[in-house]
Amino acid sequence: MTDYNKPIPDPDPYTSGPFWEGAKEGKLMLPRCEDCNRVHWYPRILCPFCYSRSISWFEASGEGTLYSFAVQQRAFAPGWAEEGPYVTCFIDLNEGDRMFGVLLDVDVSKPEDIFAKIGSKVSIEFVKANDDVHVPYWKLAS
Ligand SMILES: [Zn+2]
Repeated sequence: MTDYNKPIPDPDPYTSGPFWEGAKEGKLMLPRCEDCNRVHWYPRILCPFCYSRSISWFEASGEGTLYSFAVQQRAFAPGWAEEGPYVTCFIDLNEGDRMFGVLLDVDVSKPEDIFAKIGSKVSIEFVKANDDVHVPYWKLAS
């Protein structure tokens, strides 16, 4: 049993299975189109750039840069409501495309300090929600 108290994603093996399998091992797996060679996020059956169905997965660096953020003052989902305020973010992945997430270990009372970190390097960290799901979070690289 885990003490993870937030909503847990329900992995879809047909679109995001490799992502969740990698997450269990602390690896960020990303989909790449075999025809146009572009990385896309979120996972889907068709390449969003050229509509190819030839998608393969690779282990990414798990690193990126902070593109934007928002301090969430209120949340209604279980777990988040008790934890707020917290910081959501968009991360420009090193390998391409942009991922939404939660930024940990920042001072929500000083958003100007977080703003000053836009463009800074971040790295992914997976938190075990249960035996099948490890949820990605982001941290500023030290
Ligand atoms: Zn493509």
